[in-house]
Amino acid sequence: MKTILVTGGAGFIGTNLIKKLLEDKNKVICIDNMYTGRLDNIKKFLNNPNFEFIKHNITKPIKIKEEIDEIYNLACPASPPHYQKNPIFTLNTSIFGIINILELAKEHEAKVLHASTSEVYGNPLEHPQKEGYWGNVNPIGPRACYDEGKRAAETYCYEYWKEFNLDIRIVRIFNTYGPYMDPNDGRVVSNFIIQALKNRPLTIYGDGKQTRSFQYIDDLVEGMLKYMEINKEKLEYKLKEKFNWNTIPVLNMGNPEEEFTILELAKKVLELIPESKSKIEFKPLPQDDPIKRKPDITMAKKILGWKPKVRLEEGLRKTIKYFYTII
Ligand code: NAD
Ligand code: UDP
Repeated sequence: MKTILVTGGAGFIGTNLIKKLLEDKNKVICIDNMYTGRLDNIKKFLNNPNFEFIKHNITKPIKIKEEIDEIYNLACPASPPHYQKNPIFTLNTSIFGIINILELAKEHEAKVLHASTSEVYGNPLEHPQKEGYWGNVNPIGPRACYDEGKRAAETYCYEYWKEFNLDIRIVRIFNTYGPYMDPNDGRVVSNFIIQALKNRPLTIYGDGKQTRSFQYIDDLVEGMLKYMEINKEKLEYKLKEKFNWNTIPVLNMGNPEEEFTILELAKKVLELIPESKSKIEFKPLPQDDPIKRKPDITMAKKILGWKPKVRLEEGLRKTIKYFYTII
């Protein structure tokens, strides 16, 4: 039995991951300060003897008595309205948070999987985005607290990997959706579904021609588990041999087959909720909103034998079913 620490475990990805880790009979310690996390998400784990919850803000150092084998560092608000609400907190979470987590990993000799983001590519000038692309990020715009915080966190991972030979892997997650998203999260999939279920207008920012590639949560969780499982030497060797990647492991995880414009997504949601009386409403496009985004997942495919399986329609159906039950 492994002891696995999940920061941000009460959030969307964390809850789905912990559910699977507990099903697989691991001991899970969840750290969350409940900034965007939901008690409803983790309530069902609380009477499991293999689950422990620690309310803690990762910007402050933490000591854990038990030995920890693995750490998934997911703590960070991820939805633009939430991460922009308190930008300094967001930056601090990425920067001081990763320092504290890496120090903890050093002390426990634990493996780390750090959740980074496709936002490190900013408004990308290359399409699709490969891991070797350095990105196009505005360091002084409204998204910078998230994008630059995540970029700095990657740099901390890289320096700890180099200096202390820590076992760290970075995953750059592309737009992921599914059950256990907060109905008030503010990201596009949950917004459209909630709006459609409540017969409110679906709010499209800009002309709706911007694209995102949508990954269903179960595919991401499967990918993260495979990524964590592979041994450090094998992982780094394969990356070097197959891709001439001589640095810290970084893999994109997202669904390149499911790139849609936001207008197409809105229409799809309305098609799947035919009883909805909602119409589409256009609102101003937020500053620095990326025009298009799609992952190149060749590295994850070749190294882990992983690729997403769930099509948008199937994933949306499952997500709609979830939101039906909670709103
Ligand atoms: P989420 O907002 O649902 O979950 C984040 C969790 O972290 C919440 O439970 C929140 O309370 C907790 N948290 C935030 N700051 C904290 C702090 N300082 N200390 C302790 N806990 C803190 O978001 P999510 O979608 O589950 O995202 C999880 C991770 O994955 C984030 O790091 C995010 O940047 C990354 N990511 C997600 C996506 C996606 O599409 N869902 C895409 C790219 C990257
Ligand atoms: N978006 C939208 N309506 C909404 C929420 C988001 O049109 O109610 C757009 C947003 O402007 C962006 C895309 O959908 O172009 C994805 O937004 P989200 O916040 O989900 O993620 P991110 O921009 O971080 O990829």
